[in-house]
Amino acid sequence: MHNIVIVGGGAGGLELVTKLSKLVGQKDNINITLVDARLTHVWKPLLHEVVSGSLNLIENEVNYLIHSHQNNYNYIYGSLINIDKNDQSIDIEIHSLSHPEQKCVRNVKYDTLVLALGSISNDFNVPGVIDHCYFLDSPEQAKTIHDKIFMSYLDIKQEVIPVDPEYHVAIIGGGATGVELVSELIELKNQMAKTLFKELNQIKMTFTVIDASDRLLMALSPNISKEIEKSLKTMGVNVLKNAQVVSIDADKIYFADGSELAANLKIWAAGIKAPQVLESLKDFEKDKIHRLKVYATLQTYSDPNIFAFGDCANCQLDATQPPLGARAQVASQQADFLCTSLMNRISNKSLPMFKFNEKGSIVSLGQKSAVGEIFNELSIYGKLARTTYDALYRVHQVNIHGAKHTLQLTKRDSITKNLLKNLKLY
Ligand SMILES: Cc1cc2nc3c(=O)[nH]c(=O)nc-3n(C[C@H](O)[C@H](O)[C@H](O)COP(=O)(O)OP(=O)(O)OC[C@H]3O[C@@H](n4cnc5c(N)ncnc54)[C@H](O)[C@@H]3O)c2cc1C
Repeated sequence: MHNIVIVGGGAGGLELVTKLSKLVGQKDNINITLVDARLTHVWKPLLHEVVSGSLNLIENEVNYLIHSHQNNYNYIYGSLINIDKNDQSIDIEIHSLSHPEQKCVRNVKYDTLVLALGSISNDFNVPGVIDHCYFLDSPEQAKTIHDKIFMSYLDIKQEVIPVDPEYHVAIIGGGATGVELVSELIELKNQMAKTLFKELNQIKMTFTVIDASDRLLMALSPNISKEIEKSLKTMGVNVLKNAQVVSIDADKIYFADGSELAANLKIWAAGIKAPQVLESLKDFEKDKIHRLKVYATLQTYSDPNIFAFGDCANCQLDATQPPLGARAQVASQQADFLCTSLMNRISNKSLPMFKFNEKGSIVSLGQKSAVGEIFNELSIYGKLARTTYDALYRVHQVNIHGAKHTLQLTKRDSITKNLLKNLKLY
């Protein structure tokens, strides 16, 4: 019996466990287990749509218990807290759902361990960030921001408390997350000001995206950055570049040049680091943000029985290039690669080397538009780009549900959208 344990059922881990279970089929000498700290999976690139209310969270959650039953693998609901390389086992902390104060630690043996733990926001130890900013790392956090915005809008409408004539939203981080989020929030505000919350027109609302570098979306080409900045400005977003945040308090954001910005709602999306558990693990080679260093086989530097991929891995395929970025595209291609690779490993064949195939990037600008570059060259804009962007989620759904099921989900989503007349009401 070969025990494969995959920890983390996110954009990469869930695709891997689904495909691997299909490949393994009824073979009774391979046992596949998925461990995840959550009961349900939501594709992380959709979180900004949960914030704005464009996406129905419940309809887009995948229940791991049901999915594991349908796809023939084991699922353990719990958090990885330790790895014992010598014993080839991991400790998983499991909290009781009915008695939250009670928990136990379960030890699980592995022959092959795959870590796909994702990443969390990096506050870079800037004072005040943890206490005064919201983060966008999980569906719960996205829902919290959503509720905060709706409650503020409702307060303005109903004048429950004295209404401030100004409301300022600041997003720190001008990468894809920050840009996509601010576009959704502007679209939400415009839509609400025309329909349910006309009172919003009576107050001055501002939306600001802040970045320490001299352009937005540093990971994309300067042309795309320019185009995105132009589009954001047209939408009414203030863009602050070369603006290094040095501290934050309840009312303001303070910058290195001595300037400050008033902000009622502050969302921090300025960078990532590996989850806490990797920070605490000893005897593993890691980078500055605690990601596990891996070879092109995706085996960790520290142990050939342990693989890591997606956001939690530092995978540098070419010494002259930076490590692969924290993107769903990378996690998905690595999941695909690992299916073949793990089957080779079980059959004692040599392991292949991962090659990344850059397919381009698309950044959404609200529900109707997007900007992107594909195949390193071709830039796409507007509705076509947005349709391509939507297709990326459908590809993820095909990978975890199959084509037929995804077609049904697509039909359902289109009916719901029509019923709600595209209002952001989730
Ligand atoms: C708002 C937003 C928009 C984005 N947009 C894009 C985009 O347009 N295009 C793109 O390519 N990328 C985008 N990304 C990045 C993309 O979401 C990530 O690169 C991708 O999700 C990484 O996949 P992963 O499998 O490594 O991790 P994740 O998808 O984050 O999954 C990690 C899983 O590990 C589990 N886990 C974590 N810790 C533990 C533990 N200790 N024990 C057990 N389980 C654990 C989590 O519950 C989770 O299920 C976006 C991210 C955000 C936040």
